[in-house]
Amino acid sequence: MFAGHFGVAAAVKAKTPEVPLWALMLSTQLLDVVFVPLLIAGIESLEPVDGGGYGAVIIHAHYTHSFISALIMSIIAGLIAWRIWGKRGGIAISSVVFSHWLLDLIVHRADMAILPGAAGNFPLLGLGLWTFPMIIIVFELALIIFGSILYHRSLVPKAKGKQRKHAIAASGLMAVLLTLSLVTSVLGG
Ligand SMILES: [Zn+2]
Repeated sequence: MFAGHFGVAAAVKAKTPEVPLWALMLSTQLLDVVFVPLLIAGIESLEPVDGGGYGAVIIHAHYTHSFISALIMSIIAGLIAWRIWGKRGGIAISSVVFSHWLLDLIVHRADMAILPGAAGNFPLLGLGLWTFPMIIIVFELALIIFGSILYHRSLVPKAKGKQRKHAIAASGLMAVLLTLSLVTSVLGG
């Protein structure tokens, strides 16, 4: 679920233009960005299931993807963003960081811990919609379309003359990139 997360970023950009798009994109993926070094270090891991492919994976990410870790990361990111882009920017960044956990909760098989390190033997969470790839592809596509439309609307109507051409190009590029990221994740697994 890369494309869906980015769709959220594009949608939020439309509502909080003071926050740059890169910051929103990074925020939607922050949990996965932190996941990469832990994956390399062997602290967290990916385990293919059902022969692998799109969404056919159990993700052992009890530090980056526990409920409490996501909450802490979204608070820290929100506080940093608040100092740079003001209160509204801080709230936007913080919600976007946490939105990653919520979207993952819908798609992941039950592999998401409540406490960091899966402490306390609480049940692992995940609604497992990845077991129905077609539903998730449609869901991601809906997020992309929704994000692209909001992004387009935030840029194009206000722009005039040459600026308008740039705005149309920027929002078109966004839609293409989002679609490509979905296609790659579906084909690449
Ligand atoms: Zn994730």
